[in-house]
Amino acid sequence: GERQRNLQNLMVERLGRRLVVLLRTIGEVAQERKYRAFAVGGFVRDLLLQEKNFDIDVVIEGDGMVFAKALAERLKGRVRVHKKFKTAVVKLPDGLKVDVATARLEYYDYPAAMPTVELSSLKLDLYRRDFTINAMAIHLNPDTFGTLVDFFNSQNDLKDHKIRVLHNLSFVEDPTRIFRAIRFEQRMGFTIGQHTERLIKNAVRMNLFDRFFGYRFFGELKGILSEENPLPAIRRMADLHLLPFLHPRLKLEPRLTKNLEESQAALAWYQLLYRDEPCRNWLVYLLALTVNLKRSELQDFCQRFEVPERNRQQLLGEKTAAQQAATVLRRALPDSNSGIYHLLAGLGPEGLLYLLAISRKKAAKKAISLYVTELSQVRPELNGHDLKVLGYQPGPIFRQILDQLLDARLDGQVRNREEELVFVRRHFPLARTKVEQA
Ligand code: ATP
Repeated sequence: GERQRNLQNLMVERLGRRLVVLLRTIGEVAQERKYRAFAVGGFVRDLLLQEKNFDIDVVIEGDGMVFAKALAERLKGRVRVHKKFKTAVVKLPDGLKVDVATARLEYYDYPAAMPTVELSSLKLDLYRRDFTINAMAIHLNPDTFGTLVDFFNSQNDLKDHKIRVLHNLSFVEDPTRIFRAIRFEQRMGFTIGQHTERLIKNAVRMNLFDRFFGYRFFGELKGILSEENPLPAIRRMADLHLLPFLHPRLKLEPRLTKNLEESQAALAWYQLLYRDEPCRNWLVYLLALTVNLKRSELQDFCQRFEVPERNRQQLLGEKTAAQQAATVLRRALPDSNSGIYHLLAGLGPEGLLYLLAISRKKAAKKAISLYVTELSQVRPELNGHDLKVLGYQPGPIFRQILDQLLDARLDGQVRNREEELVFVRRHFPLARTKVEQA
């Protein structure tokens, strides 16, 4: 049954004035049009868990699009509408964002203003969500502001730390929810409920392989691999026999587990050193997870899960470059810093950390970390302008000189500007280069 509980005090305490004023405004704008507005989903869940989450999801009983435009106008924000899904995003000048959805009224032929119908459409909207903990709502209209709506015993599941679906066909309807369940379980330290776990196993046994495709899966996988520590979630996926759905040849064998652990260590190391450098953790883990797949198999993966072109290029590009470097490193280490540099220069941070994770030889790991911490940042002090002043004519010779200078610098042959000048004059005598260029 529904419990009435008012969250006004909690909201003021947890969200701060600015956000509460925004929520009240949403309720007022809805009221003016005789709509009803509710905050729903992860926002409500995190409010009750006392977790920070400022992504406001709003469901409107009424016309969500009309509402979104009115809200944007009132708050001088901008609105982007997805007509097809009857959703809109309102972006406010202070950076806050409100997602607006329309409660589906298609089963009800009554005017939106009738109270019983209003309640039912909200209930239907919440019933179609992924888990009970995400299926609560908070009234935003002025007359009932702050009242919690809990049709499905969500508060109990939140208290018991349980992830439960709302009905038995949930995973058949949308298998991406299986990934979401695992992500929430690991992130929040919750447990998937017994019955819900049985439903996952049933879904897996029914072999919904053919229904595992498309971008939404990739999005959820990326979500899992972007969590603070994705290893338990990956282990859980393996235990539930989900990895073969990503690719039939994916198995969590000891070597792969080791790779993932090493990836985590490499990422921790990198983040300690370069706190502010962007690094896509998911990409490192995905490379490690798919280490045994051939390039063509990884291409199949990208196709099946409609991996966006940019991500596809990152994944395939880093894999190819890292694999090439790994082959060289396995045979023999470069015997100079410039050799290490040229071996690794084509890799981004993610490919480097992946390479670090799959390299077992201590000397190889040392070379890679030397590249990351030092060599990759080495530049000659002289630049094109200096060369012009020295009397060289701009042209391909500039690249040549600067490349050789870089190598000399990497290998310690030159250590400062003076030595670079001597090096350039010695190796590229002006008279000769002028003749060559003539
Ligand atoms: P996060 O903190 O990761 O953003 P969230 O709960 O806000 O968690 P979103 O992915 O932003 O998750 O989704 C917003 C809401 O939409 C969820 O709370 C959930 O109710 C609903 N939702 C998302 N994906 C699904 C799905 N596959 N099936 C049903 N409902 C979903």
